[in-house]
Amino acid sequence: MYAFTLERPTTLADAVKLSAAGAKPLAGGQTLLASMKLRLSAPEQLADLSGVKELTGIRKDGDAFVVGAMARHLDVANDAALKAGYPALADLASRIGDRQVRAMGTMGGSVANNDPAACYPSAVLGSGATVITSQREIAADDFFQGLFTTALEEGELITAIRFPVPQRAAYVKQRQKASHFSLVGIFLAQYADGVRVAVTGAGNGVFRHKGLEAALTKSFTPEAAAAVEIDAADLNSDLHASAEYRANLIGVLTARAVSKALG
Ligand SMILES: Cc1cc2nc3c(=O)[nH]c(=O)nc-3n(C[C@H](O)[C@H](O)[C@H](O)COP(=O)(O)OP(=O)(O)OC[C@H]3O[C@@H](n4cnc5c(N)ncnc54)[C@H](O)[C@@H]3O)c2cc1C
Repeated sequence: MYAFTLERPTTLADAVKLSAAGAKPLAGGQTLLASMKLRLSAPEQLADLSGVKELTGIRKDGDAFVVGAMARHLDVANDAALKAGYPALADLASRIGDRQVRAMGTMGGSVANNDPAACYPSAVLGSGATVITSQREIAADDFFQGLFTTALEEGELITAIRFPVPQRAAYVKQRQKASHFSLVGIFLAQYADGVRVAVTGAGNGVFRHKGLEAALTKSFTPEAAAAVEIDAADLNSDLHASAEYRANLIGVLTARAVSKALG
């Protein structure tokens, strides 16, 4: 490591002030600290968000759940109201990484980081959620902008994410054996006005699959998902899997997710 200063704000106002002045927000540190050790990131000042109470908690707000940016994966996985009201989201959190990652990693950190194989971005996009920041509200469809890129501006903090509760939903992933990140992950959610299907792990970043959405809006069955042709053209090929393999997984996992959502 190299020299840097660490600030520990206890109010959102102070955290926002520090971020606006150039401090890098530190949430669970599961990505940021590793990047700093590898010299991929070299902030001069960190603002540790763990003492900011306004960023914690999970609450029901009408037909939605609002999850604080500093909610740890374990908090989301174990929250009784969420498990009852939006079980697919709690289930997703319970499958992230390992125990240490779940104990430390946060929803805000994961969504701000927008790793192309991360799980939460698929839940945010698949739910048509709203990212609430220190400056504004951003619809999920506008938030994710490709590889580790989001609509967040310099100094803008995620404070919470609002998830409208669907009629049915499920998350299914084929995990990479070493990290448990998604080789491919599918989050699908059925709402009164249609089905949303978000794919993670397969491309440059999380994306919606319009063909699957149209087929499942018409017929919410595993057969309808399996019948959709998945184009491998824009998908990733790497040492873990070819684009063709990932394309096949998208179809297979979506069919499994529909079965899971149907119970
Ligand atoms: C071994 C391992 C396995 C993992 N497996 C999985 C997996 O299976 N699935 C999965 O989805 N993820 C996985 N992860 C990622 C993990 O879940 C964390 O979510 C992720 O590392 C970042 O979250 P964090 O809270 O640690 O953020 P940090 O590392 O603290 O921050 C990440 C980035 O987000 C910024 N940031 C943090 N909070 C905010 C905020 N509120 N507003 C604006 N910017 C902010 C930081 O400045 C930084 O740039 C894994 C990580 C590890 C190390």
